[in-house]
Amino acid sequence: HREQLQKLAEVPSVTTDGVSLTLAANISSLKELEAALANGAQGVGLFRTEFLYMDRSHFPTEDEQFEVYRMAAQKLKGQPLTIRTLDIGGDKQLDYYQMPEEENPFLGFRAIRFSLERKDLFKTQLRAILRASCYGDVKIMYPLITSVEEVREANEVLAEAKQELLAEGVPCRTDVKAGIMVEVPAAVAIAELLADEVAFFSIGTNDLIQFTLAVDRMNEQISHLYEPFHPAIIRMIRTVANAAQAQGIPVSICGEIAGDVNALPIWLGLGIEVLSLSAQAILPVKQRVLSSRAADSRKLLEELFRCRTAKETRTLAHQFHAEAA
Ligand code: PEP
Ligand code: MG
Repeated sequence: HREQLQKLAEVPSVTTDGVSLTLAANISSLKELEAALANGAQGVGLFRTEFLYMDRSHFPTEDEQFEVYRMAAQKLKGQPLTIRTLDIGGDKQLDYYQMPEEENPFLGFRAIRFSLERKDLFKTQLRAILRASCYGDVKIMYPLITSVEEVREANEVLAEAKQELLAEGVPCRTDVKAGIMVEVPAAVAIAELLADEVAFFSIGTNDLIQFTLAVDRMNEQISHLYEPFHPAIIRMIRTVANAAQAQGIPVSICGEIAGDVNALPIWLGLGIEVLSLSAQAILPVKQRVLSSRAADSRKLLEELFRCRTAKETRTLAHQFHAEAA
């Protein structure tokens, strides 16, 4: 079975009615990139850079980061590399940096909030990413965006980093695209406004589910309430997809739910063109893509939006493929 699946690594990811769905990878190291490429990943949709910061005793220097980003870009041979800026805080701490004690770390000083407070560290990372952009199709992604102001402030630091490099005569591309993670309900609510300010959206369902349903994603006692098929969640994803499509910017899904084959009709039905998955999820999802019809998914999606409970929604999505097969 594994061998059969492995043969699909080279096969294009297209439905029976000719709709392409790009299957990119979520990675947090060069080692994970190797595994993803072996499974036929079409680029990296989410490079979680925090692991570069966690695996050492000091903040990684610009050169240390540049080396890693450059190698990743080169290994991808022109396929996209979406580098997410530091998403520290929450459950991810650094041994060498004392974060404030917080009652609610997931709602605290983390991700883009940390970067905008520590612009020195943020700029170091952006400079490293910009330098690596000469070696491939590199994109920048900001995590935990909740407002247009945050995007503008982050882009100002990006513009400064670019100016500095140009002034220093350091090679970098000047057309590197910057997009955002949509993973906070506020960002969903203002998706139409954000779409006008950024180059792309990537929906981070792990956090979006946590914040929308008010269910701590780490808390086992309430894990049964962590429900990707909740009618609220599929509606939020639809809102974001519609806003992106109206503005003509790409939208992808990069949370764990992207790897659930039963959710595939949702993406195909909404016209989402890119999924970003863990390396192990790529081939099983591709297998399902190859036997799917986008037209059937669109029909199913209409029915999914008529469901009133998570259970109904999930059951209908699960039945769908069993029947189609
Ligand atoms: C997410 O929140 O869905 C996501 C992809 O990012 P992370 O799991 O790193 O928070
Ligand atoms: Mg997240």
